[in-house]
Amino acid sequence: MIDIREATKNFGDFKAVDKVSFSVKAGEAFAILGPNGAGKSTLIRCILGTLDFEGEIRLNNLDIKENRKEAKALIGYVPQEPQFYDMTTIEVLNFFGSIRRVNKERIERVLHLVGLKEHVFKSTSALSGGMRQRLSFGIALLSDSPVLILDEPTSNLDAYARADLLRLIKKFKTEGKTVLFSSHRLDEVEFLADRALVMKSGKIILESTPHKLGEVLGLKSKLHIKLPQSSIKTALDVLNENGFNNISLNGNKLSIELSHKERILALRKLLLAEIPVEDFNVEEPSMESIMEEVQQNGL
Ligand code: ADP
Ligand code: MG
Repeated sequence: MIDIREATKNFGDFKAVDKVSFSVKAGEAFAILGPNGAGKSTLIRCILGTLDFEGEIRLNNLDIKENRKEAKALIGYVPQEPQFYDMTTIEVLNFFGSIRRVNKERIERVLHLVGLKEHVFKSTSALSGGMRQRLSFGIALLSDSPVLILDEPTSNLDAYARADLLRLIKKFKTEGKTVLFSSHRLDEVEFLADRALVMKSGKIILESTPHKLGEVLGLKSKLHIKLPQSSIKTALDVLNENGFNNISLNGNKLSIELSHKERILALRKLLLAEIPVEDFNVEEPSMESIMEEVQQNGL
């Protein structure tokens, strides 16, 4: 559905995207992972046909340079920082709806899909960050195009709004849309993507399935567990017996360093031993640690 061959974008002497090649199959969710400045947004703008570039990009076999209009019609796009000025929700949708020539029924349907029916007359400046992102997603859905492209859809969202939006995107993938999104968070890439690539300084440095990324890079997650004071000794015994040794204790909280793959395993062992876990959370490896790992391994 999306085929990219040696896409290169120079800003003067600076290579923002450097000979990037990859393909995304129809119905697949594909993630571009990378730190700020990696070239993700620039690459996306090339795919959208809004930037000149060297190399070749095809959407469903249509060359974006030669058949820009037809190729673009296949894409629903969610920008990194949408601007709605002071319009209300419905004004925004009507505005983009008229540009894309969609009917009122489709606008109604989209409002329903993104759960903004109760906020149609609200000024977009009064919407929460999560709602604004949903609206932006709604615009991308207006023409019901087969490809969705999202540039860091969850940046600036709190944990709740992020989970909410990720579920919504996943729903569209399940319905057969091809999804290409950029992110700097490994957890959302794991949740959404079938395949992922890591970009740095304009280049692809790694391509893998998201579940293998953590493993390939040897990343460590941290599992934090809160327990009743009376269960701590037993918990430590259970963890030690099961080979978990990298544990630190702070009051009634245990922190266990684990490989990315095993990050829930320790919790499971505790629950099996009927230890009453009061609360837990997993601290995922940060993008910085991913990049450090990449640099050290010379990938
Ligand atoms: P990302 O989205 O991964 O954070 P970007 O694609 O926005 O990265 O930017 C990649 C690099 O290209 C950055 O160093 C950025 O400063 C540079 N860049 C982006 N747009 C322009 C532009 N219009 N002119 C000059 N440099 C740019
Ligand atoms: Mg960006």
